[in-house]
Amino acid sequence: MNFEEFNLSDSVLSAIYKKGFEKPTYVQEKVIPLMLSKKGNIIAQSKTGTGKTASFGIPLIELLKPKKYVQALILTPTRELSLQVAEEISSLKGKKRLKIFPVYGGQSINYQIQHLKRGVDVVVGTPGRILDHINRKTLDISKVEYFVLDEADEMLNMGFIDDVERIMENASDDKKILLFSATMPSRIISLAKKYMGTYEFVKATDNQLTVNLTEQIYIEVYESEKFEVLCRVIDATEEFYGLVFCRTKLEVDEVSNRLIERGYDAEALHGDFSQYQRERVLKKFRTRKVNILIATDVAARGIDIGGLSHVINYSIPLNPEYYVHRIGRTGRAGKEGVAITFVTPKEYRELFRIKKFSNARIKKGEIPTIEEVLS
Ligand code: ADP
Ligand code: MG
Repeated sequence: MNFEEFNLSDSVLSAIYKKGFEKPTYVQEKVIPLMLSKKGNIIAQSKTGTGKTASFGIPLIELLKPKKYVQALILTPTRELSLQVAEEISSLKGKKRLKIFPVYGGQSINYQIQHLKRGVDVVVGTPGRILDHINRKTLDISKVEYFVLDEADEMLNMGFIDDVERIMENASDDKKILLFSATMPSRIISLAKKYMGTYEFVKATDNQLTVNLTEQIYIEVYESEKFEVLCRVIDATEEFYGLVFCRTKLEVDEVSNRLIERGYDAEALHGDFSQYQRERVLKKFRTRKVNILIATDVAARGIDIGGLSHVINYSIPLNPEYYVHRIGRTGRAGKEGVAITFVTPKEYRELFRIKKFSNARIKKGEIPTIEEVLS
């Protein structure tokens, strides 16, 4: 299938091609026509990195006309995602004069109020800040036609579901609800039952949760060896550009400090960082001023950075769902990547649980030899 078959306007179509998208992904193939036909509510379940944003972004741009009031509200679990989704949708806008505005905590609320007053068509935001605006009556969502819940499972993991429900109850009754998620925990299903009535359900066909193009391996290490093995992996890669996951903030600081001491271009990211610092770090990483980012799960949630060569699980995640989300950071939309998980002898059970949960083939790999490092 190709994008021409959706009968999109020339402006949107050329914006899509300008982004370098050649063919729609599976969710896009299904969701775009459903939304364009204005049928009703949609639930789409599909792996991380399969283009869910554009699957609702393209039809939104196509369907909306500039009206200077909020016609679409998109909720995302993190600030970074709000920014990213707003950027992705804006980049699909072509010549259309729609105003797309991200609203998230950590940014000046007065600045946001000013923009909202001037009139915006699409708001993308985190539940907390959106609720704040609703309570202050600086955001009117009574005319919202499209209510998008992006990364619904993450929203649940981060404890935002009650906020989401409250926001939903404030929105107009005849809105269409569009729910996107990589997994479908029962709490999300009951939310859908409560608010969505009837809906179309789109599910990516294969039962593998992770991106196929990512090669997944694990390496057996002792705790005391981990740092050296990490350095070897980095050194053995021609152009290493990777995300390294740790379990705690402390571990993030430790690993990044040791890497920097050894002369690597690394940055840390975790929950103690201010919004300003987070954005600074992400920008440095995105523009490849540094090629190694060490992060906790929470800090890295939803970050979409193109062309990563590696995702490294310095510490194996204790929650198998986190594994799927971490791995989803590489090999996105057709690019190859390697995911390496360090497993200590005590952690085999975790590896087993991850394999079972994700249905992924995780092959055993070896510590790169000195020869590989030097070659
Ligand atoms: P998801 O929300 O499913 O995790 P995203 O919407 O964040 O995935 O998309 C992942 C990446 O794939 C983004 O960089 C996006 O620009 C890119 N992408 C989306 N659709 C396509 C496509 N049809 N062809 C190529 N790349 C795409
Ligand atoms: Mg997404």
